[in-house]
Amino acid sequence: MSFKTIAVIGAGTMGNGIAHVFAQHGYDVQLIDVSETALQKGLATIGKNLDRQVAKGLLSEADKTATLGRITSHTSIAAGVANADLVVEAATENTHLKLSIFKEIDAAAPAHCILASNTSSISITKIAAATSRPAKVIGMHFMNPVPVMKLVEIINGYATEATVTSQIVELSKALGKVPAVANDYPGFVANRILMPMINEAIYTLYEGVAGVESIDTIMKLGMAHPMGPLQLADFIGLDVCLSILQVLHDGFGQPKYAPCPLLVNMVTAGKLGAKSGEGFYTYTAGSKELVVSPQFK
Ligand code: NAD
Repeated sequence: MSFKTIAVIGAGTMGNGIAHVFAQHGYDVQLIDVSETALQKGLATIGKNLDRQVAKGLLSEADKTATLGRITSHTSIAAGVANADLVVEAATENTHLKLSIFKEIDAAAPAHCILASNTSSISITKIAAATSRPAKVIGMHFMNPVPVMKLVEIINGYATEATVTSQIVELSKALGKVPAVANDYPGFVANRILMPMINEAIYTLYEGVAGVESIDTIMKLGMAHPMGPLQLADFIGLDVCLSILQVLHDGFGQPKYAPCPLLVNMVTAGKLGAKSGEGFYTYTAGSKELVVSPQFK
């Protein structure tokens, strides 16, 4: 099957990045969000990120205009998916919400349309079971920021057809990405390995083994990671890290995935990392300086 029209559901952090990448590679994109404000914000972000590519000489002004011209926005799922060959869902991470969105997509999308979810942790098999076409449901897990990060983790649900997987692998390559395929078990591959490392870093701080800066410096310079695990947790969002650890803990029933009590306390106190202005570090708009939160000094 050749893909022409891609519907992207959710115009937030991930959705606008996914729409950007598909439109830049010549696909017609239908960008859908329940919120008109989110759509406008998402389109503005795409514009800004394209401007950055133009400034770096990676894209011409004409390509930028053509890319934006390929994106149409909608607040209705039914209208947005009506002619789609592929839907990539990137709405809020909530199981109940995603199941209801997939029922709605399934009812309105053409029979040949493949339905993908960008979920970080919700079972693809569960999402697929809410539709009448589980063989055509797959995980397409892009990384943040989508226009920059090369990886697409592709997740086969229990019923995903092999031809659907190979089509999504080829499509990811056509976007200039590197696909890697996994099966549908809690956390897939990326978060199953990343989140226990972040949790262990938080335990290391909680038990007083070392401070924030030492932990991040050791992991950054010692392991050649681009940023330390505590800074990365702040970037991802501490609430997101907690909810993925809970998925791992519930899914495997093993104590090794139990979230550190310090992480639970920080989320309860509203310290969610960069997005709330404070996590392991404090964040001030316009400043790139990394300052350890007063709590951990
Ligand atoms: P976000 O909060 O930035 O955006 C979610 C968007 O979904 C919002 O604009 C919201 O208005 C919209 N939305 C909510 N209900 C909707 C509905 N019924 N129909 C249409 N739109 C709806 O979230 P995000 O960070 O972009 O995450 C989106 C998905 O991507 C989640 O499943 C998340 O787990 C996954 N993900 C996130 C990251 C990340 O780093 N942020 C990385 C990989 C995967």
